[in-house]
Amino acid sequence: MSTRRRIGGALAATGLALLAVTTPVASAQTGDPARGLYSVEGASTPDKRTEVARTGVDVAGSRGGALTIVATPGQAAALRANGFGLKSLGDFDSMLKQRSGRAGTAAVAGDFPPGDEAYHTYAETTAELQKAAKDHSDIATLSSVGKSYEGRELNLLKISDNAGTDENEPEVLFTCNQHAREHLTTEMCLRIVQRFTSGYASDPAIKKMVDEHEIYVIPNVNPDGSEYDITGGEYQGWRKTRKPVPGSSAVGTDPNRNWDYKWNCCGGSSNSPSAEDYHGPSAFSESETKAVAAFIDSRVVGGAQQIKTHIDFHTFSELVLWPYGYTKAETDTGLNEEEAKRFADVGKQMAGTNGYTPEQSSDLYVTDGDINDWAWGKHKILSYTFEMYPKDGGIDGFYPPASVIPEQTARNDKAVDILINEAKA
Ligand SMILES: [Zn+2]
Repeated sequence: MSTRRRIGGALAATGLALLAVTTPVASAQTGDPARGLYSVEGASTPDKRTEVARTGVDVAGSRGGALTIVATPGQAAALRANGFGLKSLGDFDSMLKQRSGRAGTAAVAGDFPPGDEAYHTYAETTAELQKAAKDHSDIATLSSVGKSYEGRELNLLKISDNAGTDENEPEVLFTCNQHAREHLTTEMCLRIVQRFTSGYASDPAIKKMVDEHEIYVIPNVNPDGSEYDITGGEYQGWRKTRKPVPGSSAVGTDPNRNWDYKWNCCGGSSNSPSAEDYHGPSAFSESETKAVAAFIDSRVVGGAQQIKTHIDFHTFSELVLWPYGYTKAETDTGLNEEEAKRFADVGKQMAGTNGYTPEQSSDLYVTDGDINDWAWGKHKILSYTFEMYPKDGGIDGFYPPASVIPEQTARNDKAVDILINEAKA
C-alpha cells in the first residue's frame, strides 16, 4: 500500500538504510531488474515489516505478513542478506509497459492506456465536477483550495442544501489521489460526487445526509503526479509530487509524509530525496499539502473546527486505518483511551460494510507526517485512510482494469454513509 512506506532516518543502525539510495540499474551479478516486483516472506510482525520498509523499497501492498514491494537490485540483495525470502513477480518496468499496452492498440496521448479510458484524467475529472455543479447548482458548488506545483487547480466540490451559504452544519471531507498512481481513488471521489448530487432528488436517505451536512470532496490532491503517471498513454508507476527537490537531482516528495504533525519524527519516512516515501525538505514543502491544509484550517469557525470526519482514499490492500501512524502506542499526546476506542469502533463498523481489515495505521509499520495524524493531532478530525481494492497484487494492484471501477467504488457506499452520519456524534 502506497500509503505505508518508509525508510529510516533513525535506522542507519540496521545497516540497511545505507542501501536505500542505491542507483536503480539492473544488477549484472544477480540478474535482478532495475525495478523488480517481489513478494516478501518472513515479514509477519510490525518490527519485521518496519525493517523491510526501512530499506527504502516501495511497499506497494501489505496485508498480514505478506508484503509486495518494488525494489532495486541493491535493496533486494540487502533484504535477502537479512534473511527475508524474496519471490520475484517480474520486472516492474516491463510489467508496466505490458499493462499499458495489453489491448494491443496505440495509446492516445493525454489519456489512460487502451482499455482503461474509463478512468478520468484530470481534465475529465474537472469536467465532471463542473457538470455536477451546473446540473445541481442548488446543492453543489465548485471552487479550488489552491494550485498544484505545476499550476493545476486543486478542485473542491461542496455538496449541501444551500451550498452557496456557510450553514451551521457538521462538515465532512473526502480526499483522493494524494498518491499519483492510485487512480481508483479519484474514481471513488467521483462516485461520492455522483451519488450525493444525482441521488438527491430521488433518494430520501441521500437527501437527508446532504441537507444536514456540508460534504467536501477533493478528487485530485496530486494532479501533477497523476497526469505524469499516464504520460504518453503509458503507466509510469509514479507515486510522488512533481516538484524538483532543491539541491538534488530527484523529483517529487511523498505528499503523505509531508504533513506538519510529528513530521519526520520517528523514522516513518525517508530522508533520501530519491526514496518513494521522501518526506520533503520541510513540512508542507509541497503546494498541494499546504493548500489542502490551509483549506482545513479555514474551516475553524468561531474557534471550532467544522470538519468532523474525513477519509483519505488510497490503494491498495483493503484496509481501514486510523491514527496514530507515528507511534505503535494506541494512545499518546492528544489521543486518549476513549478517543482511540472511538476510532476503532467506527473503523470496525465501516470495515464491517466493505470487508476491509480494520487496524491502527502503525499495526503495519510506523509512518510519520501523514494526513490522518495531522487532521487528528491538530484539528481532532476523525480521520481515516482507506486502502482500496485489491487485497493484494501484482501489477493489477497498482492498475486494476477499469471494469472494476463501478463495483469497487460502490463497495464503499455504506462506509461513506457511516462516516457522514458520524460527523454529528
Ligand atoms: Zn497511497
